[in-house]
Amino acid sequence: MNHNSRRYYEKQLRRKVGTAIHDYQMIRRGDRILVAVSGGKDSLVLLKVLADLRRSAPVEYEIMPVHLSTGFEKDFGRIIEWARSALGLEIEVVQTGISEILARVSDPEKSPCALCSRLRRGRLYTLAQERGVSSIALGHHLDDIIETFFLRCFYTGQIGAMAPARVSNDGRNRVIRPLAYCKLTLVKAYFSFFDVEPVSCSCMIRPDSKREQIREYLRILEKDNPKMKNSIFAALGNIDTKSLCLKGEYHAHSH
Ligand code: SF4
Repeated sequence: MNHNSRRYYEKQLRRKVGTAIHDYQMIRRGDRILVAVSGGKDSLVLLKVLADLRRSAPVEYEIMPVHLSTGFEKDFGRIIEWARSALGLEIEVVQTGISEILARVSDPEKSPCALCSRLRRGRLYTLAQERGVSSIALGHHLDDIIETFFLRCFYTGQIGAMAPARVSNDGRNRVIRPLAYCKLTLVKAYFSFFDVEPVSCSCMIRPDSKREQIREYLRILEKDNPKMKNSIFAALGNIDTKSLCLKGEYHAHSH
């Protein structure tokens, strides 16, 4: 198979998504999955792969694509059209008023992205409750997960990342990330065959510079060690707690 063909990337992506779904038991029979569609490349790839897999999946599940409108995005209509014609899916648009909230409360010296994503997450969880869905699918990929690991480690003094599947902190929602095994390069390569322009999230208030910087560091390091990202991801599932600096009950057992 031609290694640059649509078919090639599609196969790779489906295989990785299928494996992640299986490994983390992301989808169960009869699930109603709310798919968060920002209109960016990742979310469109996620929507397409979930729609495609549904046809061949051993279990039946339902997809509900939802777009939480921040008020920043321009021309989301083309994404709605694309989902209709290419996937036969109707995206529901929910207004959030987040752009006005950010204009009022965000600190001009700081990136508003953390607050923006917290507000969107809150709205998404509430919506999931209202609609009685069984899980929420998000388009985060392998690079997002490991960047988050370094962001938390460097700036909040915490070891943690983004789980491929988890129950939310308030215990009310189940969140799944079916692209967890897919690198950004694969997501982008597959997306290049889509017949639609993505909607960029960037409101250009101020980009998340810390994440950009970590992405750049990782890009440089990956040149010397192409397997590095997979190794970091594997490390996140293979934790040697006894060698960590945990206090209290672990103390007596650690080296
Ligand atoms: S760039 Fe995206 S995440 Fe950041 S504030 Fe704007 S819309 Fe929100």
